[in-house]
Amino acid sequence: LNPFKNRQTCSVRLKDVYFSYDGENYVLQEINITAEEGKKIAIVGASGSGKTTLAHIMVGFYPVDRGDVLYDNISVKEIGLDVVRENVFLVLQSPMMFNDTVRFNLTLGKNIPENRIWEALEIAQMKDVVEGLPQKLDTLIGKNGIRLSGGQKQRLAIARMILQNPKIVILDESTSALDTHTEYKLFKALQKYLEKRTTIIIAHRLSTVQQADYIYVLDRGRVVEEGTHQELMEREGIYNQFMKKHFMR
Ligand code: ADP
Repeated sequence: LNPFKNRQTCSVRLKDVYFSYDGENYVLQEINITAEEGKKIAIVGASGSGKTTLAHIMVGFYPVDRGDVLYDNISVKEIGLDVVRENVFLVLQSPMMFNDTVRFNLTLGKNIPENRIWEALEIAQMKDVVEGLPQKLDTLIGKNGIRLSGGQKQRLAIARMILQNPKIVILDESTSALDTHTEYKLFKALQKYLEKRTTIIIAHRLSTVQQADYIYVLDRGRVVEEGTHQELMEREGIYNQFMKKHFMR
């Protein structure tokens, strides 16, 4: 059973999910979250509320203690973890970079035409930076090479995601180190790419969260509010308070 086969994307659903790291204390409880096919959902919440854990569960890093994770309404148990891991891509806040060339870090060794690499770099707002490097795509990163800033690594990771061409995209604070203007340009350029893919965005900035079709608010491992940005702003809840606070900054 492969819900991704011959499809551009599919839905993701967490159904009554419970998860603990130590087998005792649940860091996620009674989680019901749905990202419909081709839609963009956002998950917000204070630090420690369980967002990153949730992201890892959706990509198949951790199995759940109770409940189920479904893609196109088929359980991950039936689909198999290998198929999920192949089709769902998680971009983290502090992405890992191989001690290798810029090219390798983007293609992960796949044979991808040069023009597609530059296209992905352009979307990720990283084209000018790589063009300015001494050996461009063949420049070494890391121990024997150049040191990239946090924001540059984040942009490379976005370009890597584009080139890996996943069916479902999860962005966990993956543009947090960019200034608002660059982040805005990146999401604008990425819009067309994400349109065809179910996307889960974990973020703080109003401008980023606002573009989601539906938003879930997490608090101490539970979903405490959900709705569209408009709906949530009309309530005097956590989202409203949170957004006002972050927007003021
Ligand atoms: P968020 O992404 O919202 O900041 P996390 O998912 O990182 O939240 O963390 C949720 C809870 O799980 C926190 O209490 C955190 O301390 C705990 N936690 C996160 N990662 C681990 C881990 N690898 N082992 C044990 N506890 C963890």
